[in-house]
Amino acid sequence: MAENEVLFREVNERVSTLSDRLGQDVPYEYLCECANADCTFRITLSTTEYENVRVEPKQFVVLPMHHTPEIETLVAEHDRYWVVRKTGEAGEYVEQLDPRGRSGNGSSGSVG
Ligand SMILES: [Zn+2]
Repeated sequence: MAENEVLFREVNERVSTLSDRLGQDVPYEYLCECANADCTFRITLSTTEYENVRVEPKQFVVLPMHHTPEIETLVAEHDRYWVVRKTGEAGEYVEQLDPRGRSGNGSSGSVG
């Protein structure tokens, strides 16, 4: 299940980077990052909203009710989306695969 979520997050990361380049806090459709492999729903979030979730590598953005209590904790409920945090093995797994956690890759110039 976690693999699916990591995959979706990779896609979302690219979306996030793209909107970052535009330099605007524009709403964008992100993939639901829930544990259901068949879920292809999208969630409209602003860059800031998504970034706030991604501050924590173990946190994922999902649609309301797309929460799997067995492997994740509900962190926050918003009108359009919920924030969940992976627990146990799944949490450690996704932390390892966090795209931002990889070191020594590329140059990230800091832009104020
Ligand atoms: Zn979902």
